[in-house]
Amino acid sequence: MRNKDRLIKVAQEALKNSYSPYSHLRVGAAVLTNDGRIFSGTNIENASYGLTVCAERVAIFKAISEGARRITAVAVVSDTPSLCLPCGACLQVIWEFGENTEVIMCSPKGEIKVKKIQELLPQGFVLKKKGNYSANPSHANKVKDSKGLNVSG
Ligand SMILES: [Zn+2]
Repeated sequence: MRNKDRLIKVAQEALKNSYSPYSHLRVGAAVLTNDGRIFSGTNIENASYGLTVCAERVAIFKAISEGARRITAVAVVSDTPSLCLPCGACLQVIWEFGENTEVIMCSPKGEIKVKKIQELLPQGFVLKKKGNYSANPSHANKVKDSKGLNVSG
């Protein structure tokens, strides 16, 4: 993907702002929206651990709050020696905004792995959107039952 290097660079810059006094695991993320905008994020920990938010979700929530609805790529970097895979919660959030999103993982040594979100989360959780909500029209096509929960596939 053309913007891969740029996204990785933005994620590496965001990592520098990590607030991770408990784990000391610094993570940076950058998302590319379908309209070409890039949003960055870093992990933000809290003394009440459950309130901690991952870098990927910070970046995605920034994008969505600025009007984006489709995420085409997410880059994730950390300062651990190995590649940093998004956690399950982040995979679900990525899936919500793009079932073909590329997840780009980059280690500090420059090792890069790119996976489609569907490889990492083959069966994302789906709820039917009510009314004429078109945040992600491609997901709506996968809903078979209008009465309640459904799973893509
Ligand atoms: Zn996460």
